[in-house]
Amino acid sequence: MTTTNEAWFERARRSIPGGVNSPVRSFRSVGGTPYFVERANGAYVWDVEGRRYVDYVQSYGASIHGHAHPPVIEAIRSAALEGTTYGAPTPREVLLAEEIASRVPGVEQVRLVSSGTEAAMSAIRLARGATGRRKVVKFAGHYHGHSDTLLAAGGSGVANQGLSGSAGVPDGAVADTVVVPFDAVPRLDDDVAVLAVEPVAANMGLVEPPPGFLAALRAECDRVGALLLFDEVITGFRLARGGAEEWSGVRPDVWCFGKVIGGGLPMGAFAGSTEVMANLAPLGPVYQAGTLSGNPVATAAGLAALAQLDAAAYDELVRIATRLQAGLTAAITGAGVAAQVPRTGPLVGLFFADEPIRTFDDARAAADNGRYAVFFHGMLRRGFAFAPGPYEVVFPSLAHTDTDIDATIEAAAEAAAEVAAAI
Ligand SMILES: *Cc1c(COP(=O)(O)O)cnc(C)c1O
Repeated sequence: MTTTNEAWFERARRSIPGGVNSPVRSFRSVGGTPYFVERANGAYVWDVEGRRYVDYVQSYGASIHGHAHPPVIEAIRSAALEGTTYGAPTPREVLLAEEIASRVPGVEQVRLVSSGTEAAMSAIRLARGATGRRKVVKFAGHYHGHSDTLLAAGGSGVANQGLSGSAGVPDGAVADTVVVPFDAVPRLDDDVAVLAVEPVAANMGLVEPPPGFLAALRAECDRVGALLLFDEVITGFRLARGGAEEWSGVRPDVWCFGKVIGGGLPMGAFAGSTEVMANLAPLGPVYQAGTLSGNPVATAAGLAALAQLDAAAYDELVRIATRLQAGLTAAITGAGVAAQVPRTGPLVGLFFADEPIRTFDDARAAADNGRYAVFFHGMLRRGFAFAPGPYEVVFPSLAHTDTDIDATIEAAAEAAAEVAAAI
């Protein structure tokens, strides 16, 4: 019988490319063998060797309540007993769309899909269809899933014509994608259909935009008639009850959601005003569809997760994140290792860098110094699972207790001493 992480990884690599179904899980950027999860509960995951980890991955933010949250599990169980997919509309899809619209002031209509990638891909098509324009502008280091148009890489410095970000993405697929740095408001022209932004960047570590930046993007889009897209697959229903619109006071034209809204099941959504969304089939000319879209089990999980996210929940998330941020900063810098531990609301980042991180070039320089991998393994050995890559953020959940956080901080001081020794 297969019992160890190493044995499972070896076996996985025979039937699955690289042994994983999403590359970051392979530990490529930190080295070593991934832990194979057997089960999880609240703040913890257990691997196949029976080791317990305090989990700060939490499915990259999908599990905001922690793992196997009882109301979510109960919703999944009772929904599954009534059938898992029908190919016909259901009441829960309506309830979830209403719930999303009631939280995010500018959202009037919602279309449900099955992943964040699908949400972003569809939102781009919608924006192009609605404006009749070609160009998509995005920021270097911002992640919008892995559809061809959005897998563009930018050079550094000035605005760039998109270069293909992956083998298999032909230059033609990104010919109308422009990648710009996150430290300046891009000057748009009237070929631009949409400007996409993570309102708080959370896929190049955590990088908050400078004050007024999102408002300036709004004004620039208005100047040329382009749509502003907030990719809130991470920030949605985490940064605040109403996401980045509530946090910043800036209203985009189109939103993408994912992660939190599925309660841990596959789910995404894109949203906008009734007028913009009327461009979608069956009302309008922009085609978009999905066999499992609005899935009855996923909508049950999402509704149960959102039902538990009241004002007190957000206060608690921020309180936990603040405790973690202060503790990590003190533990790491106390070991003589330069670190930046930014926090925006309940989102926490971690860079081994002397100066605050503003752009993807800054983030890359910090990621390339190798310190994250040493810290990561120091934490993992002590039973604390951070994401296996330097570009991910730290996801404390509502299940993390002060005891979990304080134990994390104690371990971080020891792991940081190992980083200091390795410098
Ligand atoms: C995770 C993420 C996506 C992609 O979502 P998937 O469900 O992994 O396809 C898109 N945008 C942002 C901001 C994300 O964090």
